[in-house]
Amino acid sequence: MDLFEYQAKELFAEYGVPVQRGRVASTPEEAREIAAGYAAEGSPLVVVKAQVKAGGRGKAGGVKLANGPDEADDKARQILGMDIKGHTVHKVLIAEASDIAQEYYLSFLLDRAARTFVAICSVQGGVEIEEVAHTNPEAVARIPVDPLTGVDAAKAAEIIEAGGLPPEAAGQAALLAERLWSVFADEDATLVEVNPMALTDQGDVLAVDGKVSLDDNAAFRQDHAKFADPEAADPLEAKAKAKHLNYVKLDGQVGIIGNGAGLVMSTLDVVALAGEPFGGMRPANFLDIGGGASAEVMADGLEIVLSDASVRSVLVNVFGGITSCDAVANGIVSAIGMLAAQGQEVRHPIVVRLDGNNAEEGRRILADAGLPVVEQVATMDDAARRAAELAAAAPTGA
Ligand code: GDP
Ligand code: MN
Repeated sequence: MDLFEYQAKELFAEYGVPVQRGRVASTPEEAREIAAGYAAEGSPLVVVKAQVKAGGRGKAGGVKLANGPDEADDKARQILGMDIKGHTVHKVLIAEASDIAQEYYLSFLLDRAARTFVAICSVQGGVEIEEVAHTNPEAVARIPVDPLTGVDAAKAAEIIEAGGLPPEAAGQAALLAERLWSVFADEDATLVEVNPMALTDQGDVLAVDGKVSLDDNAAFRQDHAKFADPEAADPLEAKAKAKHLNYVKLDGQVGIIGNGAGLVMSTLDVVALAGEPFGGMRPANFLDIGGGASAEVMADGLEIVLSDASVRSVLVNVFGGITSCDAVANGIVSAIGMLAAQGQEVRHPIVVRLDGNNAEEGRRILADAGLPVVEQVATMDDAARRAAELAAAAPTGA
């Protein structure tokens, strides 16, 4: 999960990483009110910043200085509703502006290729960092960070020195780096980035921008739910999550249900390939119902997959292991019955391929149930082809 700048800065502040004071607004009136508050305290100059999960907001016109409440209202009016790289601006951050003397770059991230964490630091920060990294790579230092020892004062000083920061900024920047590492490590982030880390005319070093990506795999031991952005979540994915299903929405037409992440992944590949001759039919989702494919889990899965308006056929691909195929077959039969009882009659064709533990019994159960929407196919390749064919033949929007 990626955070908005204002959320990243809230987190920074908790760890003592210096940030500008700021509050978030959804309307120009709120922006005016916040700016009026700062003006009353003697800080009329604010910066109005688009809150979107995309970089380059400054260049896109989403970061503007405003002198006083009137201008803050005006600038917020210009920025709210703006489209930045496909993201609509719903909120702006109103932050007390800083007098920036120099802009540096600092980040910690997981370098998967090098199998370690890495710090990146540069004296040439600001909006052109990608350009600097490209044209002048030696100005951007990359320092590996051992996860077991992390970043103490000495390591932080090493990082800042490698980045080439001047002595007047180095001490405070190192302290910021040490605390930023705590954010990274303690919050289970995969990225924390400060660009610019600014030296002000007053000689302070602070995080003027913040980007944080959190590792969702650590959600169970973190308090990150408060950062969730319900507006951005896919409604089907949210529904699946509530039912504890491993579901990812894709953009094709063939709904996929399988047991085991590996089997489902390969089913996606096989369907994508099989769908090519049928006008490019593609998988509509990833859905792994896991080991215990009970009737209820199957019903939940079918319900999610079938409520996707772009789905035109469904492929159930199960290899019986601990959960035997007869249990899965019973699950499918009762799932279709349960959905019908809820007034959600299944009308899309469902292609089922059962193999593995007790496959023959499973196939017999399905055949005996005589469900008109269910069609059994013996192999994965043939099942994928049939599901793609049925999707292509289905009337659009049905
Ligand atoms: P980004 O373009 O999405 O990376 O947004 P940033 O928050 O990094 O802002 C872009 C640029 O706006 C910065 O590099 C600064 O040059 C400028 N900026 C942002 N906040 C301030 C501020 O408080 N004072 C001044 N003078 N400039 C700022
Ligand atoms: Mn920035």
